[in-house]
Amino acid sequence: MVFHIITLFPQMVKGYLDVGILSRAIAEKRIEVETHNLRDFALNRYGQIDDTIFGYGKGMLFRPEPVFQAAEKIKKDHPQSKVIFLTPQGKKLDHKKARQLSREKSLILIAARYEGMDARIVESIVDEEISIGDYVLTGGELPALVLLDTVSRFIEGAIKTESADEESFEKGLLEYDHYTKPLEYNGMKVPEVLRGGDHKKIDEFRLKSGIRKTYFNRPDLLLDYDYPADVKETRNILKIWLRKNKSLRDYLRDIENISKEWKNARRNSKDRRSGC
Ligand code: SAM
Repeated sequence: MVFHIITLFPQMVKGYLDVGILSRAIAEKRIEVETHNLRDFALNRYGQIDDTIFGYGKGMLFRPEPVFQAAEKIKKDHPQSKVIFLTPQGKKLDHKKARQLSREKSLILIAARYEGMDARIVESIVDEEISIGDYVLTGGELPALVLLDTVSRFIEGAIKTESADEESFEKGLLEYDHYTKPLEYNGMKVPEVLRGGDHKKIDEFRLKSGIRKTYFNRPDLLLDYDYPADVKETRNILKIWLRKNKSLRDYLRDIENISKEWKNARRNSKDRRSGC
């Protein structure tokens, strides 16, 4: 898959892609990334690509000509490209959308600056407007990289890991709590069940942990929960657990107790350090 990024700051994009898993995916040609400097399509020798806004008020906008020309040039070699404008006014990017976009052969991502772009660009060449969240950033480079990063995770052989199936959102829930060494840190212990090697019990712990996390942090996800493997059964489990099942209540109480113990342990170790 090829990602084309139209930007005023190609160096920002390159900096992120120079290291880590994405740089490896690029080196192994699992994904391709091409940055296109909008200044190369400037209107004049002063490098102009923007202009003032009609009506009244301050601010500048990308003019249509440079963006049209940049997209046209890319489309000559990649006619099937889907054009995406990163904008806070777009539909919110999520796991499902990222998976869907990973099936495209080529994406053109437009990263704007200033107040955004002339509306005619959006009307005529943009296929989708995508936002990365309900806040406003100074430019579209980070949103373009966020999209590129998460879409790449769905590309076979690029970043897909064995644990991808367990990750947050994959089955409609947030991922369960993880622990690593040491077994005990500042009085906080790794839960016993994870040390016993009983896979059934570990799965149960993880499912409950995922449900608990989702319940407290993102209850909205539970409303749409429809993991297709066994929708009916899982829905029932959720309903029972979340409304009346004793084991979840017990589990939540356990978790509360563990957190309390941890808080106390932290407080004690602070007190010890401060000499109280
Ligand atoms: N005037 C615009 C508005 O109120 O919707 C905001 C312009 S913002 C300062 C400049 C550019 O940053 C946007 O055109 C877009 O490309 C990018 N941007 C900022 N926040 C974003 C977000 N949450 N999602 C995607 N792109 C964003």
